[in-house]
Amino acid sequence: MLTVLPINAYQDNYIWCIQNPLSQACIVVDPGEAQPVIDHLEKHQLTLVAILVTHHHYDHVDGICDLVSYTQQQTGKSIDVYGPLNPKIKQITHPLKHGDVLTILGTLYEVTEVPGHTLDHLSYFSPEDSLHSAPWLFCGDTLFSAGCGRLFEGTPAQMLNSLKALASYPLETEVYCTHEYTLSNLAFTQAVLPNDTEVKLYIERCQTLRDSNKPTLPSTIKTELAINPFLNCTRPDVQASVSLQSQSPITDELDTFTRLRKWKDTF
Ligand SMILES: [Zn+2]
Repeated sequence: MLTVLPINAYQDNYIWCIQNPLSQACIVVDPGEAQPVIDHLEKHQLTLVAILVTHHHYDHVDGICDLVSYTQQQTGKSIDVYGPLNPKIKQITHPLKHGDVLTILGTLYEVTEVPGHTLDHLSYFSPEDSLHSAPWLFCGDTLFSAGCGRLFEGTPAQMLNSLKALASYPLETEVYCTHEYTLSNLAFTQAVLPNDTEVKLYIERCQTLRDSNKPTLPSTIKTELAINPFLNCTRPDVQASVSLQSQSPITDELDTFTRLRKWKDTF
């Protein structure tokens, strides 16, 4: 069986490490820093075989060079670096596009373009198989628990479509986001949906985890559909709240999403 473990980086980044305890081989997703990954590899005696990259931001790519040279020195082998075709990420050995399917450590990863946070953003979905019993989604900075990424490069319409694509994965899909933003996102969610019981229960659950220094991630698609306002822009209570806050009637789902994202930007 494969396991997925978080490696802490920067203030609140998680570099997800997918490892096979039998072969001691592993993959990391979005290594924004090399040293925390090297420490993890040495502690668990793992060999890095591949890197998956979701987008070009420094806190997702700045560790790649050092990890490639470290692995070359340790094993004499080069590693595969998968990610978007973007001149800003020079270390990519396998540029990817929408619909590509990879097999790494015996498991499939489906590549989806999810523009919005950046234009080059990719997500990786791995259906359940004999090596892991729940589907996995590595969604970078597109979907967060109770939130979504800021729109640095894309339009609200692009981001809404990207989030809808992610929300259509099976309910039991484990959602591996790149930042521990859950509690601060939930403070905003509570402003949008002050009387929502599911949101209140989820805040208690996440607060308990953070009090013992545990990640609130992975989330699941089921949880996000229940509590994430950005995945619920057709819900009457979300629309009513956004309309009240911006003091004008809502026209449609995209209008709701656009105003919700703007509200969160200044929250
Ligand atoms: Zn980013």
